[in-house]
Amino acid sequence: MKTKNIDFSKFSSINIGETLEVTLLENSNDFSSNYYLIGSCNNILMGTQPPKLIKLSKKYDYIKIVDNTLKIGAATPSGKIASFCKKNNIANFEFVSHLPGTLGGLVYMNAGLKEYEIFNNLLCISTTKGHMQKSDINFGYRFTDIKEPILEATFTLEYGFDEEKVKLFKEMRLNQPSTPSAGSCFKNPKGDYAGRLIEAVGLKGVLHGDMSFSQEHANFLVNNGNGTFDDAISLIEEAQKRVYKEFNILLEYEIMILDKRYIN
Ligand SMILES: Cc1cc2nc3c(=O)[nH]c(=O)nc-3n(C[C@H](O)[C@H](O)[C@H](O)COP(=O)(O)OP(=O)(O)OC[C@H]3O[C@@H](n4cnc5c(N)ncnc54)[C@H](O)[C@@H]3O)c2cc1C
Repeated sequence: MKTKNIDFSKFSSINIGETLEVTLLENSNDFSSNYYLIGSCNNILMGTQPPKLIKLSKKYDYIKIVDNTLKIGAATPSGKIASFCKKNNIANFEFVSHLPGTLGGLVYMNAGLKEYEIFNNLLCISTTKGHMQKSDINFGYRFTDIKEPILEATFTLEYGFDEEKVKLFKEMRLNQPSTPSAGSCFKNPKGDYAGRLIEAVGLKGVLHGDMSFSQEHANFLVNNGNGTFDDAISLIEEAQKRVYKEFNILLEYEIMILDKRYIN
Protein backbone atom coordinates (compact mmCIF):
# COMPACT_ATOMS: atom_id res chain seq x y z
CA MET A 1 0.00 0.00 0.00
CA LYS A 2 1.18 3.53 -0.74
CA THR A 3 2.33 5.71 2.14
CA LYS A 4 3.06 9.40 2.55
CA ASN A 5 5.18 11.28 5.11
CA ILE A 6 3.13 14.06 6.67
CA ASP A 7 4.53 16.82 8.88
CA PHE A 8 1.74 17.23 11.45
CA SER A 9 3.21 20.49 12.77
CA LYS A 10 2.03 21.94 9.44
CA PHE A 11 -0.81 19.61 8.40
CA SER A 12 -2.81 19.68 11.65
CA SER A 13 -4.82 22.84 12.31
CA ILE A 14 -3.32 23.13 15.82
CA ASN A 15 0.25 22.88 14.42
CA ILE A 16 1.35 20.07 16.74
CA GLY A 17 2.98 16.76 15.82
CA GLU A 18 6.00 15.20 14.19
CA THR A 19 6.53 13.95 10.64
CA LEU A 20 4.83 10.55 10.48
CA GLU A 21 4.26 7.91 7.85
CA VAL A 22 0.60 7.68 6.84
CA THR A 23 -0.83 4.82 4.75
CA LEU A 24 -3.16 5.82 1.91
CA LEU A 25 -6.46 3.94 1.72
CA GLU A 26 -7.30 3.25 -1.92
CA ASN A 27 -9.69 0.31 -1.56
CA SER A 28 -12.10 -0.86 1.14
CA ASN A 29 -9.92 -3.92 1.79
CA ASP A 30 -6.90 -1.75 2.66
CA PHE A 31 -8.41 -0.95 6.04
CA SER A 32 -7.72 -2.91 9.19
CA SER A 33 -8.51 -1.97 12.76
CA ASN A 34 -4.76 -1.61 13.47
CA TYR A 35 -4.98 1.81 11.85
CA TYR A 36 -6.49 5.10 13.04
CA LEU A 37 -8.18 6.96 10.17
CA ILE A 38 -7.54 10.69 9.89
CA GLY A 39 -9.23 13.29 7.71
CA SER A 40 -7.58 16.72 7.45
CA CYS A 41 -6.75 16.94 11.20
CA ASN A 42 -8.91 19.89 12.13
CA ASN A 43 -10.18 18.16 15.24
CA ILE A 44 -7.13 16.14 16.21
CA LEU A 45 -4.35 16.65 18.74
CA MET A 46 -1.45 14.47 17.59
CA GLY A 47 0.49 12.88 20.44
CA THR A 48 4.10 11.84 20.83
CA GLN A 49 3.03 8.17 20.90
CA PRO A 50 0.58 8.11 17.98
CA PRO A 51 -1.15 4.99 16.62
CA LYS A 52 -0.57 3.77 13.03
CA LEU A 53 -2.31 6.23 10.74
CA ILE A 54 -4.30 5.86 7.53
CA LYS A 55 -5.93 8.49 5.30
CA LEU A 56 -8.26 8.24 2.31
CA SER A 57 -6.50 8.71 -1.03
CA LYS A 58 -7.51 11.34 -3.62
CA LYS A 59 -9.76 8.70 -5.19
CA TYR A 60 -12.38 9.68 -2.57
CA ASP A 61 -12.24 13.40 -3.37
CA TYR A 62 -15.26 14.04 -5.67
CA ILE A 63 -18.77 15.50 -5.85
CA LYS A 64 -21.45 14.11 -8.19
CA ILE A 65 -25.10 14.80 -8.82
CA VAL A 66 -26.81 11.43 -9.30
CA ASP A 67 -30.59 10.78 -9.53
CA ASN A 68 -31.54 13.95 -7.71
CA THR A 69 -29.06 13.37 -4.88
CA LEU A 70 -25.61 14.71 -4.09
CA LYS A 71 -22.89 12.08 -3.70
CA ILE A 72 -19.72 13.31 -2.04
CA GLY A 73 -16.48 11.35 -1.58
CA ALA A 74 -15.29 11.33 2.04
CA ALA A 75 -11.88 12.88 1.23
CA THR A 76 -13.53 15.99 -0.28
CA PRO A 77 -12.54 19.19 1.58
CA SER A 78 -15.36 21.30 3.02
CA GLY A 79 -14.22 24.36 1.00
CA LYS A 80 -14.64 22.43 -2.23
CA ILE A 81 -18.17 21.34 -1.21
CA ALA A 82 -19.11 24.95 -0.41
CA SER A 83 -17.75 26.21 -3.75
CA PHE A 84 -19.51 23.45 -5.69
CA CYS A 85 -22.84 24.27 -4.02
CA LYS A 86 -22.45 27.98 -4.65
CA LYS A 87 -21.54 27.42 -8.31
CA ASN A 88 -24.43 24.99 -8.88
CA ASN A 89 -26.98 26.92 -6.77
CA ILE A 90 -27.40 24.06 -4.26
CA ALA A 91 -29.00 24.73 -0.85
CA ASN A 92 -28.21 23.47 2.69
CA PHE A 93 -24.41 23.38 2.58
CA GLU A 94 -23.74 27.10 3.14
CA PHE A 95 -22.45 26.37 6.68
CA VAL A 96 -19.67 24.01 5.57
CA SER A 97 -17.65 26.91 4.14
CA HIS A 98 -16.90 27.79 7.79
CA LEU A 99 -16.20 24.26 9.00
CA PRO A 100 -12.67 23.13 8.17
CA GLY A 101 -12.41 19.42 7.38
CA THR A 102 -13.15 16.66 4.93
CA LEU A 103 -16.61 15.24 4.32
CA GLY A 104 -15.70 12.03 6.22
CA GLY A 105 -14.63 14.00 9.30
CA LEU A 106 -17.72 16.22 9.10
CA VAL A 107 -20.07 13.22 8.95
CA TYR A 108 -18.23 11.21 11.63
CA MET A 109 -18.32 14.20 14.03
CA ASN A 110 -21.80 15.30 12.91
CA ALA A 111 -20.16 18.69 12.61
CA GLY A 112 -22.25 21.82 12.48
CA LEU A 113 -23.03 25.33 13.60
CA LYS A 114 -25.97 25.67 16.00
CA GLU A 115 -28.97 23.90 14.44
CA TYR A 116 -27.20 23.44 11.08
CA GLU A 117 -25.62 19.99 11.19
CA ILE A 118 -24.26 17.79 8.43
CA PHE A 119 -26.80 15.06 9.32
CA ASN A 120 -29.76 17.34 8.54
CA ASN A 121 -29.76 16.43 4.83
CA LEU A 122 -27.93 13.11 4.96
CA LEU A 123 -29.61 10.11 3.32
CA CYS A 124 -27.00 7.34 3.60
CA ILE A 125 -23.30 6.60 3.73
CA SER A 126 -21.05 4.01 2.21
CA THR A 127 -18.28 2.58 4.40
CA THR A 128 -15.54 -0.03 4.02
CA LYS A 129 -18.13 -2.57 5.26
CA GLY A 130 -21.03 -1.51 3.00
CA HIS A 131 -23.98 0.92 3.00
CA MET A 132 -25.77 2.42 5.99
CA GLN A 133 -29.03 4.37 5.85
CA LYS A 134 -29.29 7.41 8.10
CA SER A 135 -31.84 5.46 10.19
CA ASP A 136 -29.17 2.80 10.88
CA ILE A 137 -26.91 5.39 12.56
CA ASN A 138 -27.18 6.76 16.09
CA PHE A 139 -26.22 10.41 16.02
CA GLY A 140 -26.50 13.55 18.12
CA TYR A 141 -24.55 16.65 19.08
CA ARG A 142 -21.00 16.11 17.71
CA PHE A 143 -21.57 12.38 17.92
CA THR A 144 -22.22 9.35 15.71
CA ASP A 145 -21.74 5.65 16.36
CA ILE A 146 -20.18 5.02 12.92
CA LYS A 147 -17.49 2.35 13.40
CA GLU A 148 -16.04 1.96 9.90
CA PRO A 149 -14.28 4.44 7.61
CA ILE A 150 -16.81 6.45 5.61
CA LEU A 151 -16.02 6.43 1.88
CA GLU A 152 -18.97 8.42 0.52
CA ALA A 153 -22.12 10.16 1.75
CA THR A 154 -25.35 10.84 -0.14
CA PHE A 155 -27.48 13.91 0.57
CA THR A 156 -30.85 15.24 -0.56
CA LEU A 157 -30.45 17.68 -3.43
CA GLU A 158 -32.28 20.98 -3.10
CA TYR A 159 -31.62 24.07 -5.15
CA GLY A 160 -31.27 27.66 -3.86
CA PHE A 161 -27.85 28.62 -2.47
CA ASP A 162 -28.47 31.33 0.15
CA GLU A 163 -25.86 34.14 0.37
CA GLU A 164 -27.63 35.55 3.46
CA LYS A 165 -26.85 32.32 5.33
CA VAL A 166 -23.19 32.60 4.34
CA LYS A 167 -23.13 36.08 5.94
CA LEU A 168 -24.89 34.75 9.05
CA PHE A 169 -22.36 31.91 9.47
CA LYS A 170 -19.48 34.31 8.96
CA GLU A 171 -20.86 36.47 11.80
CA MET A 172 -21.26 33.40 14.04
CA ARG A 173 -17.52 32.80 13.61
CA LEU A 174 -16.43 36.26 14.71
CA ASN A 175 -15.84 35.18 18.32
CA GLN A 176 -13.53 32.35 17.22
CA PRO A 177 -9.76 32.83 17.34
CA SER A 178 -7.66 32.81 14.19
CA THR A 179 -4.67 31.43 16.17
CA PRO A 180 -4.05 27.72 15.32
CA SER A 181 -6.47 25.43 17.20
CA ALA A 182 -8.37 22.19 16.74
CA GLY A 183 -11.79 23.78 17.10
CA SER A 184 -13.69 23.32 20.36
CA CYS A 185 -11.64 21.41 22.91
CA PHE A 186 -14.57 20.05 24.98
CA LYS A 187 -18.20 19.25 24.19
CA ASN A 188 -20.64 21.63 25.80
CA PRO A 189 -22.17 19.86 28.80
CA LYS A 190 -26.00 19.76 28.80
CA GLY A 191 -27.40 23.19 29.63
CA ASP A 192 -24.00 24.87 29.94
CA TYR A 193 -20.98 25.96 27.92
CA ALA A 194 -17.49 24.49 28.25
CA GLY A 195 -16.01 27.96 27.53
CA ARG A 196 -17.98 29.53 30.41
CA LEU A 197 -16.80 26.82 32.81
CA ILE A 198 -13.14 27.16 31.76
CA GLU A 199 -13.36 30.92 32.26
CA ALA A 200 -15.10 30.48 35.62
CA VAL A 201 -12.23 28.34 36.96
CA GLY A 202 -9.70 31.01 35.94
CA LEU A 203 -8.04 29.23 33.02
CA LYS A 204 -8.94 31.58 30.16
CA GLY A 205 -5.68 32.94 28.70
CA VAL A 206 -3.41 31.07 31.16
CA LEU A 207 -0.27 29.82 29.37
CA HIS A 208 1.20 26.35 29.73
CA GLY A 209 4.29 26.71 27.57
CA ASP A 210 2.90 28.24 24.38
CA MET A 211 -0.59 26.75 24.72
CA SER A 212 -3.61 28.52 26.22
CA PHE A 213 -7.40 28.56 26.22
CA SER A 214 -8.10 31.49 23.91
CA GLN A 215 -8.95 34.96 25.24
CA GLU A 216 -11.53 35.21 22.43
CA HIS A 217 -13.27 31.89 23.13
CA ALA A 218 -12.18 29.93 26.19
CA ASN A 219 -13.17 26.52 24.73
CA PHE A 220 -10.57 26.92 21.96
CA LEU A 221 -7.19 25.53 22.97
CA VAL A 222 -4.76 27.59 20.89
CA ASN A 223 -1.12 27.25 19.91
CA ASN A 224 0.56 30.61 20.32
CA GLY A 225 3.71 29.55 18.47
CA ASN A 226 5.70 26.63 19.75
CA GLY A 227 3.09 24.79 21.82
CA THR A 228 3.70 21.08 22.40
CA PHE A 229 1.55 18.04 23.02
CA ASP A 230 2.62 17.98 26.68
CA ASP A 231 1.61 21.64 27.16
CA ALA A 232 -1.77 20.92 25.54
CA ILE A 233 -2.42 17.84 27.69
CA SER A 234 -1.47 19.57 30.92
CA LEU A 235 -3.97 22.38 30.21
CA ILE A 236 -6.70 19.95 29.19
CA GLU A 237 -6.23 17.93 32.39
CA GLU A 238 -6.06 21.07 34.54
CA ALA A 239 -9.36 22.29 33.06
CA GLN A 240 -11.05 18.94 33.68
CA LYS A 241 -9.75 18.82 37.25
CA ARG A 242 -10.78 22.37 38.17
CA VAL A 243 -14.21 22.20 36.51
CA TYR A 244 -14.97 18.88 38.19
CA LYS A 245 -13.88 20.19 41.59
CA GLU A 246 -15.89 23.41 41.33
CA PHE A 247 -18.97 22.33 39.36
CA ASN A 248 -19.01 18.53 39.61
CA ILE A 249 -19.07 18.39 35.79
CA LEU A 250 -16.73 16.13 33.84
CA LEU A 251 -15.75 17.94 30.64
CA GLU A 252 -15.72 15.47 27.74
CA TYR A 253 -13.19 15.91 24.93
CA GLU A 254 -14.50 17.07 21.58
CA ILE A 255 -11.01 16.95 20.07
CA MET A 256 -9.55 13.55 19.32
CA ILE A 257 -6.30 12.90 21.20
CA LEU A 258 -4.15 10.57 19.11
CA ASP A 259 -1.71 9.14 21.58
CA LYS A 260 -1.60 5.57 22.84
CA ARG A 261 -1.79 6.83 26.46
CA TYR A 262 -4.87 9.01 25.94
CA ILE A 263 -6.69 7.76 22.80
CA ASN A 264 -10.43 8.54 22.88
C1 LIG B 1 -10.92 26.92 13.67
C2 LIG B 1 -11.84 25.72 13.76
C3 LIG B 1 -13.19 25.90 13.94
C4 LIG B 1 -14.05 24.81 14.05
N1 LIG B 1 -15.39 25.02 14.24
C5 LIG B 1 -16.23 23.97 14.31
C6 LIG B 1 -17.65 24.17 14.48
O1 LIG B 1 -18.14 25.28 14.56
N2 LIG B 1 -18.45 23.07 14.52
C7 LIG B 1 -17.94 21.81 14.42
O2 LIG B 1 -18.72 20.85 14.44
N3 LIG B 1 -16.62 21.59 14.28
C8 LIG B 1 -15.76 22.64 14.23
N4 LIG B 1 -14.41 22.42 14.08
C9 LIG B 1 -13.91 21.05 14.06
C10 LIG B 1 -13.75 20.45 12.64
O3 LIG B 1 -14.09 21.39 11.67
C11 LIG B 1 -14.67 19.24 12.48
O4 LIG B 1 -14.57 18.31 13.53
C12 LIG B 1 -14.38 18.48 11.18
O5 LIG B 1 -15.40 17.54 11.02
C13 LIG B 1 -13.02 17.79 11.16
O6 LIG B 1 -12.84 17.15 9.91
P1 LIG B 1 -11.44 16.50 9.53
O7 LIG B 1 -11.53 15.92 8.18
O8 LIG B 1 -10.36 17.51 9.74
O9 LIG B 1 -11.36 15.33 10.59
P2 LIG B 1 -10.13 14.93 11.53
O10 LIG B 1 -9.89 16.05 12.49
O11 LIG B 1 -8.99 14.46 10.72
O12 LIG B 1 -10.77 13.69 12.31
C14 LIG B 1 -11.81 13.91 13.27
C15 LIG B 1 -12.48 12.55 13.55
O13 LIG B 1 -13.17 12.14 12.38
C16 LIG B 1 -12.80 10.82 12.03
N5 LIG B 1 -12.81 10.70 10.56
C17 LIG B 1 -12.17 11.49 9.66
N6 LIG B 1 -12.43 11.06 8.42
C18 LIG B 1 -13.25 9.99 8.53
C19 LIG B 1 -13.87 9.09 7.61
N7 LIG B 1 -13.69 9.19 6.28
N8 LIG B 1 -14.64 8.08 8.11
C20 LIG B 1 -14.83 7.93 9.45
N9 LIG B 1 -14.27 8.74 10.37
C21 LIG B 1 -13.50 9.76 9.92
C22 LIG B 1 -11.39 10.64 12.59
O14 LIG B 1 -11.12 9.25 12.80
C23 LIG B 1 -11.48 11.43 13.88
O15 LIG B 1 -12.05 10.63 14.89
C24 LIG B 1 -13.53 23.50 13.97
C25 LIG B 1 -12.14 23.30 13.76
C26 LIG B 1 -11.30 24.41 13.66
C27 LIG B 1 -9.83 24.18 13.44
